[in-house]
Amino acid sequence: MSTVRHHIVIGSGVAGNQAAETLRQRDPDSRVTMITISRLPFFNRYDLPRVFRGERDWRRFIIYPADYYRKNSIVLRRATRVVAVDSTAQTLTLEHKETLHFDSLLVASGAGAYLPEELAEFRPLMHGFGGYREAVEVADALPAKGHAILLGGDTIGLDLARTLLDTKHRVTLVAGPYTFWPHEVAEADRPKYIAALQKMGVVVVEAQERGGIVAVEPGAKGLSARRVTFGDGSDLPGDVVMPFFGVAPSLDFMLGSGVDIERGLLVSPALRTTHENIYAAGDVCQIWTEKEHRYCFYHGWKNVRAMGELAARNITGADEPWDPPQDESLQLSKDGKIQSPFWEYQ
Ligand SMILES: Cc1cc2nc3c(=O)[nH]c(=O)nc-3n(C[C@H](O)[C@H](O)[C@H](O)COP(=O)(O)OP(=O)(O)OC[C@H]3O[C@@H](n4cnc5c(N)ncnc54)[C@H](O)[C@@H]3O)c2cc1C
Repeated sequence: MSTVRHHIVIGSGVAGNQAAETLRQRDPDSRVTMITISRLPFFNRYDLPRVFRGERDWRRFIIYPADYYRKNSIVLRRATRVVAVDSTAQTLTLEHKETLHFDSLLVASGAGAYLPEELAEFRPLMHGFGGYREAVEVADALPAKGHAILLGGDTIGLDLARTLLDTKHRVTLVAGPYTFWPHEVAEADRPKYIAALQKMGVVVVEAQERGGIVAVEPGAKGLSARRVTFGDGSDLPGDVVMPFFGVAPSLDFMLGSGVDIERGLLVSPALRTTHENIYAAGDVCQIWTEKEHRYCFYHGWKNVRAMGELAARNITGADEPWDPPQDESLQLSKDGKIQSPFWEYQ
């Protein structure tokens, strides 16, 4: 008598949801459980800039409502944090001490916004943009025609800058090594992309030319709410300050699990970790890439979704290698503006 396999997916983002869907299709009699810290089911973070156009109904960001999971017999456990994984026993532990056994585990726990160590103490004076609540908070804090200071840049921040300019706000970008992350831009090409940002209406300040960012401070009474100070003694007043320095994989719960980790979970081209029944997909993993002879991160909706599908196919008997579908080159549109393939999704 064949035993019913229990597939567990950690994460209800792009990778996790695609994986759960594929697992359900390819192993119809199995149990599929999806665990997420998020209170909301699968929601579209790419669309969060819409809060600056007045959108305040979180339901309009939902991609799969709770009913979708019921219909597909996927057990969705929301507001639930995985705190440890035991690869030997093939069990995971939840924050409230419950333990679950898995036959296969897919880690699709994504990544959180990365903040350079030297700026960590100023976090309380900055606004994040990682989820719905943070997005509404910063939209409410930015007055009409207000001034947003973006530190770093990255494709998430630059995408937001487009909406802020379109909604008549002022945007100053304090540029540096992360300005076009995850795009790898050659030093020689950087000036043309900075010029394109300026053409879009972004005021660009090179942090290095000002001796680096020293601090983020509250503004003086009656003046702008925030002030960024630089090593050369200059400063930049603004209404909100938002850090965009790329992402850092969310995998603390995997420390001690026994699988190999560098910055992300290390996986083979089949997206298998160093444990035969534990796979990873999305922003959390680094994939062995033969042609570069190293483990690489792959970002963007198209890549992340394809990873979720591939991992689920290999968990259910396929043995296919990763082949990135996403074009990763930064482009200039006909009217000389920045265009990133990472801004495209679905
Ligand atoms: C505002 C915003 C805009 C973005 N715009 C773009 C864009 O334009 N282009 C682009 O390429 N990328 C963009 N991104 C990045 C993009 O969202 C990610 O690359 C992609 O969604 C990653 O998908 P994922 O499935 O790997 O992880 P995520 O979507 O990050 O999902 C991770 C999931 O894991 C869960 N989780 C994490 N840790 C635990 C734990 N310990 N226990 C239980 N659950 C856990 C989380 O709750 C979440 O459900 C944007 C991100 C944000 C925040």
